[in-house]
Amino acid sequence: MSDNVSVAIKEKVAHLLNRRVGPYNSWNPVSRTQVWQWCTAMGDNNPLYLDDEYRQDTEFDDVTAPPTMMQMWSMRDAQGNYAPGSTDKNPYELLSVLEDNGYAGIMAVSYDQTFHRYLQEGERVHHYTTLVNMTDLKTTGMGKGFFVTEFAEFLTEDEEKFAEAVITYFQYETPKKQPGAKKPGSDIQKITRVHPVENYDNAHFWQGLRDGKLLIQKCDSCATLRHPPQPMCSECQSLNWSTIEASGKGSIYTYTVMHYPEIPPFDYPNAIALIELEEGVRIATQLTDIKPNDIKIGMDVEMVLTEVQDDMTLPLFGPIGSASAAKKKQEQQS
Ligand code: ZN
Repeated sequence: MSDNVSVAIKEKVAHLLNRRVGPYNSWNPVSRTQVWQWCTAMGDNNPLYLDDEYRQDTEFDDVTAPPTMMQMWSMRDAQGNYAPGSTDKNPYELLSVLEDNGYAGIMAVSYDQTFHRYLQEGERVHHYTTLVNMTDLKTTGMGKGFFVTEFAEFLTEDEEKFAEAVITYFQYETPKKQPGAKKPGSDIQKITRVHPVENYDNAHFWQGLRDGKLLIQKCDSCATLRHPPQPMCSECQSLNWSTIEASGKGSIYTYTVMHYPEIPPFDYPNAIALIELEEGVRIATQLTDIKPNDIKIGMDVEMVLTEVQDDMTLPLFGPIGSASAAKKKQEQQS
């Protein structure tokens, strides 16, 4: 059965594979303003990018863009339009066909980037994209679906490739909503959150949560705090670190509320925030005990350690009072 599905769908999309689509042009040239916005948002203080005095002693003579900005120069505008001169072909038609055939869930699996050179202020770029591979139907923890791999090429005006990326998506089957059908989820295995890989660099974080603590890495050489967990200090490149326990107090630095597509196992609307902890580092998390309209940037929040499923405790954040309310509720239940 699966084999037949696999063959039928693969035949349907075969002409959309290995088709190089583009160009997708940039709306604007590389600019200091955009680089500044990116660096402040990311907390990237590398002087190469914006410090004109520092740059005099380097090979660069103009504002230099962080390589990881590659994708944003030729992005669509907020209404989904590509810049003038771009192709009007949909680069992701194959994914739309899968969606129409019941595989409407999409998850990014991997994103490998290669940078060939820096961009400088005033350069204009464009990109091409090719869907290079689609697997047979596979069964995973998320359900049945297809892995699709995209190859993206980022080029300057004279067609010099400055960066490239290999991106793999998993496009998976989602429950069909039919009138009069059983409650969604009643006849399918409950989909749970995928547990992030625990490794040498981040095991302390997950173990800390299981022990009821939010642990933040601290550089042993220069005392800089960092999160998410990384092997090396970005300030002094030291590989030696220990941890401190965060108080669990902070404020909302920014947030977004996800409405669509509704991907199990999350509840919707799903409010995701970047919390600035009082220790000074930021952590991305889900908000709890708050209605989307009540969320305000800058509002004080506190951690509500929540066992979201059997094998996973997460540091959710909610308005002041949420933690004690959650504790009370737990005491009443036990
Ligand atoms: Zn350090």
